[in-house]
Amino acid sequence: MPLQLKLSVPTNQVADMTVEYVQLPSEEGSMGVLQNHAPLRAALQPGVMTARDLEHKNHYFFVSSGLAMIKDNVITVLADSAERAEDIDEARAQKAGERARERIQSPEPHTDIARAEIALAKAIARINAKHKLGALH
Ligand code: ATP
Repeated sequence: MPLQLKLSVPTNQVADMTVEYVQLPSEEGSMGVLQNHAPLRAALQPGVMTARDLEHKNHYFFVSSGLAMIKDNVITVLADSAERAEDIDEARAQKAGERARERIQSPEPHTDIARAEIALAKAIARINAKHKLGALH
């Protein structure tokens, strides 16, 4: 049975594709999934998800926090936000990263540092996803 990847965010489905391999950014580190993987649930952290299709072409996605579930050759990824690398606005991610860095470096009394650290991790992961795509061309 082929391996299917279904990536969704709360508002829509970002990808539904047949794959031979997926690499996920789980909280425990990078996780590779091939056909006939044992059932598993894993928490995601912001990072780059790589999906290799049946023609051995890599597709790159940004995924934020969320959950990945593997069962019966279906990988279901439910992320708070996710984009195909093609759809990432790098300048916007750079700006978000700069804002987060500023908040971390010069916090004000009300600054939520943990939130700024997550925003920075997301910005870095978006830029990384975009750069992986760029490296292909
Ligand atoms: P920003 O501060 O730039 O809004 P964010 O990390 O707070 O970034 P999210 O809450 O993750 O943004 O996402 C809000 C919406 O904007 C989602 O639909 C997400 O896909 C989209 N989005 C956010 N940043 C980018 C980006 N750099 N390129 C493309 N889409 C983005």
